[in-house]
Amino acid sequence: MRERHGTVCGSQVTDESRILIVGLGLIGGSLAAGLKASGYAGEIVACDRDPSEIEQGIALGVIDAGGTELAPWVAESSLIVLAVPVLAMAPVMTELASMVSDQVITDVGSTKQAILQAAERAFGRLPRRFVLGHPIAGSEKSGVAASNPDLYRHHKVILTPQADTDPTALARVRALWEACGAEVLEMDVMRHDQVLARTSHLPHLLAFSLVDTLARQDERLDIFRYAAGGFRDFTRIAGSDPVMWRDIFTANRDAVLEALDDFEAGVARLRQAVANGDSDAMLGIFDRASHARHYFDTLLNKTRYQAMEQRNVRYRVSPGGQVTGTIRVPGDKSISHRSIMLGALSEGVTQVEGFLEGEDSLATLQAFREMGVVIEGPHQGRVTIHGVGMHGLKKPAGPLYVGNAGTAMRLFAGLLAGQAFDTELTGDASLTKRPMGRVADPLREMGAVIETAEGGRPPLRIKGGQQLKGITYDMPMASAQVKSCLLLAGMYAEGETRVREPAPTRDHTERMLNGFGYPVSRAGDVAWLQGGGHLTAAPIDVPSDISSATFFLVAAAITPGADLTLEHVGINPTRVGVINILKAMGADLELFDEHEVGGEPVANIRVRYAPLKGIEIPSDQVPLAIDEFPALFVAAANASGTTRLRGAEELRVKESDRLQSMADGLAILGVENTLYEDGIDIVGKGEDGPSYGGGRIDSHGDHRIAMAFTVAGLRANDHIVIDDCANVATSFPGFVDLARRVGMTLEEVSA
Ligand code: NAP
Repeated sequence: MRERHGTVCGSQVTDESRILIVGLGLIGGSLAAGLKASGYAGEIVACDRDPSEIEQGIALGVIDAGGTELAPWVAESSLIVLAVPVLAMAPVMTELASMVSDQVITDVGSTKQAILQAAERAFGRLPRRFVLGHPIAGSEKSGVAASNPDLYRHHKVILTPQADTDPTALARVRALWEACGAEVLEMDVMRHDQVLARTSHLPHLLAFSLVDTLARQDERLDIFRYAAGGFRDFTRIAGSDPVMWRDIFTANRDAVLEALDDFEAGVARLRQAVANGDSDAMLGIFDRASHARHYFDTLLNKTRYQAMEQRNVRYRVSPGGQVTGTIRVPGDKSISHRSIMLGALSEGVTQVEGFLEGEDSLATLQAFREMGVVIEGPHQGRVTIHGVGMHGLKKPAGPLYVGNAGTAMRLFAGLLAGQAFDTELTGDASLTKRPMGRVADPLREMGAVIETAEGGRPPLRIKGGQQLKGITYDMPMASAQVKSCLLLAGMYAEGETRVREPAPTRDHTERMLNGFGYPVSRAGDVAWLQGGGHLTAAPIDVPSDISSATFFLVAAAITPGADLTLEHVGINPTRVGVINILKAMGADLELFDEHEVGGEPVANIRVRYAPLKGIEIPSDQVPLAIDEFPALFVAAANASGTTRLRGAEELRVKESDRLQSMADGLAILGVENTLYEDGIDIVGKGEDGPSYGGGRIDSHGDHRIAMAFTVAGLRANDHIVIDDCANVATSFPGFVDLARRVGMTLEEVSA
């Protein structure tokens, strides 16, 4: 840690010179304790007006020396930390002003504007080596006895440097907190006070007020005997130090009052809803709040969650196993997205079952909540959407965030271009790099007003209140997203919107629109609709994703004795390449109970083992099975004869170069193959040939490679160990459990 110190802030800290803490309470004491624990070897001294705090600090080993006067300690110190209550900062700084030379100074006060002004008064102007700061950590305890060396670990510290702050001073203060395990960020003084007024000061004010109000109503405090957990959780912070909080509310008065005004307006709205028995309004408020709270939890757990995700998850697959039973794999992502969008714009209540609770579809759900749609769930794949009709969306308070979902952003662009209000669409860092011109350009032709960042990239700023006009658009690329976007915009346009596709693309949007009673016509390669219609709520049972089902189709197809039924699988004609290819290879697949849900065809699929033969994969099936090839290559490895694939160069630009990753993995198992720029030849082992071996496979973080080699284990004669499998959990939640349920043997190991 000392070495790190030296690298971060150069010569100033390598000498580990003396640090002076003024005010040795909880915050100052914990800083000293954290530095000691980090191995800081310089002297740490303190000044506190209470001599017993100093004595205790020395006894606890938190500081090396100290006293009640400032003067003896200042000259020899290189860094001074002011950790007294906010209103005590001004007199301390006035005293300090005549003693300091070039020391770095920082403070820990919970408000910043008042301390900045006090410093300007005390020093004439804020010294360039004075870096204002605030650790976002604490407790209801005070005094050095409560010092905790881990208080700042994994907590944030906000620094509020000025334009002319000395960069070496800033680096030193940053290193000070980082040595204690804190994450340091920078913010403007005003913004700090506004943010803290809302996230810290207001909740404290409410907690103090609630406890005081109840206590007054019941002088003997008897009422607290009956208090439930809710009271305890809500009011824990009312046990905090009264003097500190008096100081904070005095120092940050204006920002706190502003936050309180907003809060009072919110309470008034809720009061009215309760008074009127307005169940929709109550549900809307509670539902938004409950989800915002869950989102906050995810943020809080993010560090832990990411750390977990970054760990290498490894599968160890035992050779052999069975494939029997009846299972249902998770819902289709494209259909989950669209069910929320169309459900929200419908008249009536839409019940969705089998919703895929992936991050992307949850972001879509949240975006509609922000536009005033009441959505219950998701709870075990069930979502209830209280539709607002074609023109019932409300202007969201801020930009709509769609995470990593390119589909959501492109579909939203079409839908929002027709609204009466302005909107802004943003996404995560990787989505922000993806071009949106392919939707923005044709939407502009329809009369939409859309601004993008440079190069047609997000954020998209969409101006509301435009009258759109239907167009006939020849898509330059085969894109289901662009087609869907234009059809959604077309619902709000005058006249007819027609889209021609150069090659078949997924048609989930057209099907679901028809399912919700909005007619979309189709002839050859053109789909079209008339503007001005409306949608009627319809129940949706999201079909299982055929791409996820594929791993189990192949598992059963290659395993002697297998008999597996997959329920409710989506068999949209644009996605069924895998069924056609497996059948051509001789697989025993039986589709039954075929019916339509929300316009989408679904079926149960029964697969029994039958010997497979190698085939030349028909070129017209390649686009219909593009995501399914990793699993199909495993089928090929178990067929008799050679399977040839060409015209599949797109596989090289998926989550990994899937042609290369599969060729490498198959070679490790001993399956002969020849790689081509746009395909592969795989020489299968056949029913009677020797089975292939085991080995260690790198999935390159590609979920489909990981799942394909898991399935390969069923016919291997040794263990297969697959590295880098963490991503499976996001695309196919529950894969490992389902694989075990049907009879495969695999362990998930975190490395
Ligand atoms: P604390 O435990 O009460 O410690 C403050 C110490 O400063 C006390 O020992 C106090 O002595 C001493 N002091 C007061 N005036 C002084 C003066 N003129 N000269 C020397 N020492 C003086 O309070 P804390 O919780 O550590 O809070 C300290 C600062 O941290 C405050 O500015 C607060 O806004 C900030 N902060 C607190 C938290 C939190 O959760 N506690 C979180 C973030 C930031 P007496 O006991 O004799 O008054």
